[in-house]
Amino acid sequence: MIGLISATAAGAAARDRLAAAWPDRTRVYEGPVGDAVRAAFAQCEQLVCFLATGAVVRLVAPLLSGKTEDPGVVCVDEGGRFAVSLLGGHAGGANELAREVGALLDAEPVVTTATDAVDLPGLDTLGLPVEGDVAGVSRALLDGEAVALRAEVAWPLPPLPVAEEGSYTIRLTDRLVEAAEREVVLRPPTLVVGVGASKGAPAEEVLGLVEGALREAGLSVASVAELATVDAKAEEAGIVEAAQRLGVPLVTYSAGELAGVDVPNPSDAPLAAVGTPSVAEAAALVGGGELLVPKRKSAASPAMATCAVVRRPGRGRLAVVGLGPGARDLLTPRAQAELRRASVLVGLDQYVDQIRDLLRPGTRILESGLGAEEERARTAVEEARKGQAVALIGSGDAGVYAMASPALAEASDDIDVVGVPGVTAALAAGAILGAPLGHDHVSISLSDLHTPWEVIERRVRAAAEADIVVTFYNPRSRGRDWQLPKALGILAEHRTPRTPVGVVRNASRPDESSRLTTLGSLDPATVDMMTVVTVGNTATRDIAGRMVTPRGYRWQSAQEGSE
Ligand code: SAH
Repeated sequence: MIGLISATAAGAAARDRLAAAWPDRTRVYEGPVGDAVRAAFAQCEQLVCFLATGAVVRLVAPLLSGKTEDPGVVCVDEGGRFAVSLLGGHAGGANELAREVGALLDAEPVVTTATDAVDLPGLDTLGLPVEGDVAGVSRALLDGEAVALRAEVAWPLPPLPVAEEGSYTIRLTDRLVEAAEREVVLRPPTLVVGVGASKGAPAEEVLGLVEGALREAGLSVASVAELATVDAKAEEAGIVEAAQRLGVPLVTYSAGELAGVDVPNPSDAPLAAVGTPSVAEAAALVGGGELLVPKRKSAASPAMATCAVVRRPGRGRLAVVGLGPGARDLLTPRAQAELRRASVLVGLDQYVDQIRDLLRPGTRILESGLGAEEERARTAVEEARKGQAVALIGSGDAGVYAMASPALAEASDDIDVVGVPGVTAALAAGAILGAPLGHDHVSISLSDLHTPWEVIERRVRAAAEADIVVTFYNPRSRGRDWQLPKALGILAEHRTPRTPVGVVRNASRPDESSRLTTLGSLDPATVDMMTVVTVGNTATRDIAGRMVTPRGYRWQSAQEGSE
């Protein structure tokens, strides 16, 4: 029984919501809170107090006897924002209760015991069907007990703190196995069932055939990802209903596409009827994979349905994630979600440091030093091809002078790729300087490590002639000091010495600095590799210390006015 105690109107309202949701599990204690807490403490296994934590600490302190005897206590604040596990997190079940209460009241559960503070994804929230001892294995994970992962197929799971050996297991399989004691079985959607049917084939016949084929092959129906057939059968009622009853999508392919798939058992009948020598096998195999059940016919006479089962290889997932310029609040929520989704993180050590606290326990971190770019890209792709969920990180936007292109140049179409944009240095600097990018602008990297200087110079010249605002990335390093003055010189051939120039160093990082100067007075020696330099166009102005490039409205209205 859970005792509920409140003191205020807001508390009573929240209390009543809990009581209404769990009528058989809860009991409301009315009256003076001191008496109510003492009575509930003596009579209940758990308490939810809609009171300040301090008040509850004072009330229960004299009643405490030990970890195993005391009830679990959860406090919910007046605003209903937090459900705090105060006492008996494990033995008293308060951690679990805080989560339940949180879910019900839309409050954030606050859990401070060591193993629970590490936030683990729930086994039932991985997006895969799950069977077996979910509660027991979840608790073992939370309590830091050894849990072994036995993956029979590759699948991009999120990070889980699993060990080589353990008395608990998480088994990832599409085979028809019963979960053992202390085991959960996760069902990856690895099976594609190709189906064919003649006109009017009953759903029972199709479904019976599919289920029988899976059962006899020792495969779980929970791992079926989709039914597949030929376009001409997209509306065939028996197939449509079978897919519906299995709870999976029906995917269809053109006869031409299926005719091109190599199958072990082609035949003339479907060729005459729908224009491909194979429907079931071809539709199952069209996306690649291993044919586990070759074409078989239903037992009815005449047989009206065929099916074949393929296990397709698990597709790894590569997220290419931009971390933004530095500040945590310029890291997007989507980037955060992808960092927590990945079980393998690949990146430059200094960027890993920037987000290490966000990673979930169990995340494998592959960090390397400056320079090893190609190798990082290759590692990330290799891990994804093994079926892992990988995040490849870069500062700013990972596609801007960064890891996205070398990685995607390596990647084949057997992995899924997700890009998460980040705030690139030019934008971070622009916001600090004012509005320098209000009209056409371009970024140019002055690093001639991978690009011949002639090419860079040609681009700078083109930007100069086209009067485009220019942001220089990689503007100057110890070994590369003549490129920036040279580039500024080219711009100066087309812009006056008074043209505003913004210099921003370490944008959004703790030692951020910026200054607004001019093309005529910028001292290149004050610029380094932590800096971007933005040079205005001929219309850019210093207005109240801010760099502003007009959008050209005035020019536009002047034109219109003259018409
Ligand atoms: N992918 C990054 C750029 C990598 S190139 C992005 O999108 O921002 C590295 C160059 O970016 C540095 O030499 C510097 O010119 C610039 N840069 C990156 N972060 C910066 C920051 N926080 N402040 C100023 N310049 C930065």
